[in-house]
Amino acid sequence: MCRWFDSAPGHQDSRKRHLRVAFLHSKAPMQTLPSCPQCQSAYTYEDGAGQYVCPECAHEWPVQAAAASDSVRVYKDASGNILQDGDTVTVIKDLKPKGSGGVIKQGTKVKNIRLVDADHDIDCKIDGFGAMSLKTEFVRKA
Ligand SMILES: [Zn+2]
Repeated sequence: MCRWFDSAPGHQDSRKRHLRVAFLHSKAPMQTLPSCPQCQSAYTYEDGAGQYVCPECAHEWPVQAAAASDSVRVYKDASGNILQDGDTVTVIKDLKPKGSGGVIKQGTKVKNIRLVDADHDIDCKIDGFGAMSLKTEFVRKA
């Protein structure tokens, strides 16, 4: 009886420790901090107020934006082909860019597109128009 009583507290203690570790893990899962988008420093940290901070160039950026860009978004053209950075696409209908009097004609080739997660999908440069924003549904992979 005495023996059992003696060993009980020790047993309980290790059980508690185990629970505490599990709790810490569930609250703060292993997380790799993103490197600084400005200077690529790996010594970034989270300031606890929803921002990542780079100690080397003092750049700050929101944690949420970083998390959002981690989830891989798939960009598809009008035919369902997957688009990637650097692709060449063809415009499938006449587009009237805002603030410009011209029309981007159907069939215009757009080289070296850059996919972005914004209110539009593609950043690119079009001859005669300069920097443009396009939507994936108006292009087809060339
Ligand atoms: Zn930096």
